[in-house]
Amino acid sequence: MHIPFCLHKCHYCDFNSHERLQPDWDAYRKALITELNHWSNTPQFSGRKLHSIFFGGGTPSLAPPALIEAIIDTARVCCDIEDDAEITLEANPGTADSGNFRAYRQAGINRLSIGVQSLDASELRWLERIHGPDEAIQAYHIARNAGFTNINLDLMYGLPEQNLHDWLTTLHSAIKLSPEHLSCYQLTVEPHTKLAATHAQKPYVLPDDETALSMFWGTREHLKRAAYTAYEISNFAKPGLQCRHNDGYWLYHDYIGIGAGASGKWDTSDQGITRYSNIRTPERYIETIETRGNAINSQESLIRNQAAAEACWLGLRRKSGINRKVFKQRFGFDIWQHSHAALQPWHSREKLAVTDTSVYLTEKGLAVADAVAASVL
Ligand code: SF4
Repeated sequence: MHIPFCLHKCHYCDFNSHERLQPDWDAYRKALITELNHWSNTPQFSGRKLHSIFFGGGTPSLAPPALIEAIIDTARVCCDIEDDAEITLEANPGTADSGNFRAYRQAGINRLSIGVQSLDASELRWLERIHGPDEAIQAYHIARNAGFTNINLDLMYGLPEQNLHDWLTTLHSAIKLSPEHLSCYQLTVEPHTKLAATHAQKPYVLPDDETALSMFWGTREHLKRAAYTAYEISNFAKPGLQCRHNDGYWLYHDYIGIGAGASGKWDTSDQGITRYSNIRTPERYIETIETRGNAINSQESLIRNQAAAEACWLGLRRKSGINRKVFKQRFGFDIWQHSHAALQPWHSREKLAVTDTSVYLTEKGLAVADAVAASVL
């Protein structure tokens, strides 16, 4: 469920987010409900249970709780939700409101993901975030007081002139809060962002490869000591508290994407997949939904081998790697036997481990994850 509105567009952001101070929430809610009804009646999704719901953004914590409640209620009617479904809402600290957080909880949100990014005032200013470190910490406490027992903090490293000590200072402050889950991503200068344009004219001093790698390994080491499991390359959770929704992406499950710029995917009968992306501008999205019930802007199909390669790439991001039996059931061949020539060299160099049940990256292999995935199939 994509909520594409933000109070300010951060210069590094390449998400489908739009600066709107007063979005037309009523129209957006109606469009989301129409689109949800549309997809739940399609042959590929009709009658299937929802395993998780994720309100992402943008800034979903700008949305009136009544909108969130209306969407969850609609999903309960038109899709059927598993009793213990994980229902996450992304919140930005600059928009944390105790009344709203309580109302989100009552509406059915049972997991909150807070976009902290850094706990250093100058880094947050550089990122153009609208919050400071104190607000980020306050947002966390507001969430706890509102009854949230499953909280993720998003953090970012590899910022200009940041050194290992700076990053670990933020990481330790976050660990002290004791969230259930932490996502730690390295900043990337994405094309077509304001940051990419300014960086091209006058480059920022970003950490060199060696420093960035020390941040990557430092993150793993310090979170391991704090009893978080690195269940995915950039995601860490206390036991049993992995994000089920994101795990669904890495496991290549089907999903419905609702909202401006959202995308969805389903497996097709020829063992490939089909996926779609919606119109990105919120106002055009609303207009299109009103006229045709969906807002598909583009759609593509992948044949079996393309889909299998994508599933490999995603599966190798997970600590437990690719389940050989599930993969074979899904695509009709065993990944290790089929791609033996490509995978054997990684295996001999101890970057890749193979058992009867799975194929996964070793600790040594994590740094070359993309190269391993690219060599498959
Ligand atoms: S708050 Fe998040 S989604 Fe919004 S502009 Fe900033 S980075 Fe993008």
